[in-house]
Formats: sequence, C-alpha cells, structure tokens
Amino acid sequence: MPKSDLPRIAILGAGPIGLEAALYARKLEYPVDLYERGQIADYWQRWGHVKLFSPFGMNSTPLGRAAIRAANPDHEFPAEDACITGREHRNAYLVPLSKLEIIKNCLHLETQVLAVGRHGYLKDDDPGDPKRARQPFRLLVRDNQKKERNEEADIVLDCTGTFGQHRWLGDGGIPASGEAAAENSIMYWLEDLGSERKKHYLGKTTLVVGSGYSAATTVCGLSALFAENPATWVIWLARSNRTQPLARVVDDSLRERDRLAVKANTLATRTDDNVEYHASSVIDRVEFLGQDRGFRVGGGVAGKAKTWEVDLIIGNVGYSPDTSIYRELHVHECYASLGPMKLAAALQEQKGHDCLKVSGGGADNLRNPEANFYILGAKSHGRNSNFLLRAGFEQVRDVFAMISGNSGLDLFKKK
Ligand SMILES: Cc1cc2nc3c(=O)[nH]c(=O)nc-3n(C[C@H](O)[C@H](O)[C@H](O)COP(=O)(O)OP(=O)(O)OC[C@H]3O[C@@H](n4cnc5c(N)ncnc54)[C@H](O)[C@@H]3O)c2cc1C
Repeated sequence: MPKSDLPRIAILGAGPIGLEAALYARKLEYPVDLYERGQIADYWQRWGHVKLFSPFGMNSTPLGRAAIRAANPDHEFPAEDACITGREHRNAYLVPLSKLEIIKNCLHLETQVLAVGRHGYLKDDDPGDPKRARQPFRLLVRDNQKKERNEEADIVLDCTGTFGQHRWLGDGGIPASGEAAAENSIMYWLEDLGSERKKHYLGKTTLVVGSGYSAATTVCGLSALFAENPATWVIWLARSNRTQPLARVVDDSLRERDRLAVKANTLATRTDDNVEYHASSVIDRVEFLGQDRGFRVGGGVAGKAKTWEVDLIIGNVGYSPDTSIYRELHVHECYASLGPMKLAAALQEQKGHDCLKVSGGGADNLRNPEANFYILGAKSHGRNSNFLLRAGFEQVRDVFAMISGNSGLDLFKKK
C-alpha cells in the first residue's frame, strides 16, 4: 500500500519512461496514477517493426528486470547485447513491466490527459510564489467512452513523448499549401514494409521526405521491394545540401545505426538502382489528385523549380511535443526546440554530438518554474531527435533523488 503522507504523483504516458518512472515511484511507495491514452507503449506498436539500434541491456534497467523476474522467475529476457525490434522489446520488457501488481494497480489505460493546471491559480497568477506550489495540480482526463473527469496530484511527470504529433513537409516547417487537406493520405510514420502493407508500394513511385534515421529506414525498406517489382521507384528529398543524406557517427559503437546509415547513403548515391536522391530540396505545394491517382508535389531542388508526380508520400520529417497539455502552467520553453529551457540549453551546447555522448546535465536541469512539474523522456528533448532511453532512465533516477530529498538515491544501481 502507498504511504498516505507521501505526495501523490501523476505520470502522463505509459511509454518506456512513464513505465519506468511508475515502477521507481511505486518501489518508493509513492501513491501513483499512470495515465495512458492508448495501450502500453502505444507508439511502439506503430513503429515496432523497426530494429532498435541500442542493445537490450541499454534499453532496460536492473530495477525493471529484477521486478519482472521476481514476479515470474521463468521470464526470459533477450541477451544484453541483442538488438531486437521495438515490438520484441515491448513484449519482452514493457508489457511485463505493466503487468507487475504494483503498476497494474495504478494504471489507467485509454485515458488521455487533456490539460494540467494548478488548483485555484491561473497561468498569470503569482509566478514563483510558494503558495502556488502548495496547491495541488488539477488534471482533466478523458476515458475511452469520451467521459471527462478531474483528478488531482501533487507532482506531475509528463512522459507523453513526441511521436503523436508529426511535423510538416513544407518549406520553413509550415504545411505546404494543400498539405493539411491531404494530411490523411500522407504517411508521416514508419510504414511496415515487411507486412502486407508492402503491396501498396510495390510497383509504385513513392516520395520520401527527410534525412534522419527514420527516412533511412523507409528508403531501405522500399529498396527491398525492387527485386519483387522492378517498377518500384523512390524519390528521396532532403533539405540539407549533403551529397550523402545521413551523417555517420565517427567510430559508431552502435553498429546497427551505422549499418543503416551506410546502406541508406549507398542507395542515395548509386545511380544503378531505383532511388533518386535530391539534396537541397524544398516542398511548397502538395496536391492530392484522388484515390489511386496520387499526388502532384511542387517545390525546388537547389533553387530550381521542380514538380513531381508520385503515387505515395512518406514524410519522415520528425515530431513535435504537444505543449498544450501544460499551457496553464509555468514552463519556460526553448523557442528553438520547444523542450524545457534548462535542459534545452544543456543540449544546445552539445548540438551535433553523438546521442550516446549527450548528457542532460543532472537533476537541476529538469526543474521548471512550475514547482513539481517535470517533463521526462523523449518530450524533454522537444523537437530534438537525439533522445535515447538511457537518458530517460537517468532522468527518472535524478528526478526521484530530487523529489525524495536524497541526492544519493539510485534504485537503478546494479546490486
Ligand atoms: C523508429 C524509432 C526507433 C528508435 N530507436 C531507439 C533505439 O534504438 N534506442 C533508443 O534508446 N531510443 C530509440 N528511439 C527513441 C526513444 O527511445 C523512443 O522514442 C521512446 O519511445 C521514448 O520513450 P518515452 O516514454 O519518452 O515516450 P513514448 O514512447 O513516445 O511514449 C509516450 C506515451 O505517452 C502516451 N500519451 C501521449 N499523449 C498522452 C496524453 N495526452 N495522455 C496520456 N497518454 C499520452 C502515448 O500513447 C505513449 O504511450 C527510437 C524512436 C523511434 C521513433
């Protein structure tokens, strides 16, 4: 049973970081409510066919593994150095975490948090006044029957990620003209090209936009279809002027990541396959021509106007945090990344570094002007895509050291 004199913690989002935070809090006997708008690690169901580039040992914690083993001594984990798919990780680790008695009891699935405010205080009331900090948070939540209710908490951990909100294809980051109207016909996520979905792409011309690891995954997946249907064609657009779309990490210790970069760069630069790569490109118009008639896309390459006629569009141009949840709270957002400011400043100083070497800079960078409101996980990096689970686990450790007032507290330390 939770200790009644400890503050009540609301955790938003049961992705890997929300789950890990819930386990940590429950081990310390805090009363917890874990709200998840979909199912456990909901986004991992959407992109779970993708192979993770960090190994299982790095994507799980000693605390989580020990808790699952204690509940089920026969549970088999993947090897520490195994690079498995997102779906395999979800089944081997995240779902078993959610089934632990102490998590199950505080989990509210299919319950979306719409907004968080302070009881009795508006955004413009008394910034920094300790009286404000003593009032509980008020949460507006909506269940799967669309029924709304209010809940309270003393501490809120926002772990809602960024994957739910895609960015736009248009030049300058705004929607290209016609793009918003065509949004439902464009794929902004990671298509599972190994599943029956591949039949939509076989023999078709697909425009892929983006130059990160997601776009690389998409282009490599489409290239596997060339052998089955040689008419399959990829037009790959990237904003940067690099002749190779992916910037490789020097001496990359994450071998899966490097393998992906090499393969995608090879596809982009070879002239004897079905990928047509254009650096320095922009999009300013998207016209959806109707079901089975594809799109007409207007833009430019290296300053020259260009129009593409394509069957399908996959936009892997990144994601953006939903900051509307905490609009009534005092969160100092970075105007560039939309992440919380202190952490964003620490990350900005390390811009361009390999994400394995990026450091959040410790507990203090997780504080917001709104006392007891913390943003953790992928959302804490805002639009910055260099987040690794390992960084999220460190945040969980740091935030509980702060909340508990015990700076040496570390439940993740290997015994
Ligand atoms: C294709 C891909 C591959 C990746 N590979 C790796 C890798 O190899 N190694 C690595 O370390 N990292 C990897 N990452 C990055 C990162 O670890 C993941 O994005 C990770 O999922 C972040 O965890 P999270 O818990 O912060 O957020 P998410 O996993 O995004 O979870 C957020 C949860 O919050 C829920 N939610 C959202 N809004 C609300 C709301 N309003 N109310 C209630 N619930 C809500 C969502 O449904 C979701 O379940 C990868 C990311 C992607 C997209």
